[in-house]
Amino acid sequence: MSAPTADLAALKEQVRALATELGFDAFGATSLSAPLENSEKLTGWLDAGFHGTMSWMERNLALRLSPGDLFPGARAVLLFGEDSRRRPPAGSGQDEPRPAGRTAEAPAPSFRAARYAQGRDYHKRIHGRLRQVCALLARHGGMQRACVDTAPVMEKLLAVRAGLGWQGRSTLLVHPRHGPWLLLGAVFTTLAIPPDTPLPNRCGTCRRCLDACPTGALDGEGALDARRCAAYLTIEHKGEIPEALRPRLGDRLFGCDSCLEACPWGGKPPGQPARVPPMQASPGTPAAPRANPFGTLPPLHETLAWTEADFAARFDGTPVRRLGLPGWLRNACVVLGNTGTPAAIPALRRLAGSAPPSAFLVPGHALWAISRILARHTPG
Ligand code: SF4
Ligand code: SF4
Repeated sequence: MSAPTADLAALKEQVRALATELGFDAFGATSLSAPLENSEKLTGWLDAGFHGTMSWMERNLALRLSPGDLFPGARAVLLFGEDSRRRPPAGSGQDEPRPAGRTAEAPAPSFRAARYAQGRDYHKRIHGRLRQVCALLARHGGMQRACVDTAPVMEKLLAVRAGLGWQGRSTLLVHPRHGPWLLLGAVFTTLAIPPDTPLPNRCGTCRRCLDACPTGALDGEGALDARRCAAYLTIEHKGEIPEALRPRLGDRLFGCDSCLEACPWGGKPPGQPARVPPMQASPGTPAAPRANPFGTLPPLHETLAWTEADFAARFDGTPVRRLGLPGWLRNACVVLGNTGTPAAIPALRRLAGSAPPSAFLVPGHALWAISRILARHTPG
């Protein structure tokens, strides 16, 4: 028998208080009584091939569109958001050094990485906290399942329905206070927690994300062609980066925040810069555990000589780890091709001649980088 509605409303407020205590920035709930809205939009997006090589998007499509079927008996899903620009609460055991930024004596930056990747893997960090939410709900008779990108769940669409924000022209969830910077986690529960009301779309006439996109991946109607998106090409995509798009990636080594940074919603969280400055490579010591793995990265051309063990030592426990060494070398070649100097050419030549077997695509990218550097630096 289900708990009385008033009890469930009170429980929801307990969850909200716990979410704040755990360092979440946004919380909302939605019912699982109806399938997701806009299912035809997702189907059309897949039919158009906009998902590129992410074939896993096609699998479990019915489950994605009908999240209630994922966890039989679930009656509500609770959504939790963490502003990726904000440090976890002090003393939580989740502290991470801030990303390296430009300092007075720093030279020009040589690469950029997505904000969320500049620290420990957020999936584990958020999942650990969601377990505490599950424990609270279990004490009130619920059965729960927590997901942080670990199940075929359309977390962004559920978050829109739970009132955390609206889906902007960037296709991202836009929260009125945290803009497009929320990292999401979800808890499915058998308790009928009362739903929140969705917010209206407040993009208005703004098109800043479209103007900021380096590759023209956004169509302005709320669709993203992942095959053109720098975040997809440098993270999800495992193959060759199309030559025509390589110059447009500029210094983006892992992911892309351009459409997030352009969004006028989100402002400046307390104690943090509104924009994370691009980073520069610096000679230095290996990254400390949980430190920003990019913060002490050696000059990019030196990473071309990395072994699998070197790559793992640097990125274990971070979102970059799943890119793998071949993906890293490929991306580094593209960035060097766009921003490098002749000093990088010997390392690129060595890589072109002796890339590891797993990185069979890389020599072509290294040769491309050499030709781009020579074209820039050879007197006409
Ligand atoms: S992540 Fe970058 S490339 Fe992708 S849509 Fe946003 S701005 Fe464009
Ligand atoms: S940049 Fe403008 S159009 Fe794009 S998501 Fe933000 S508010 Fe909407």
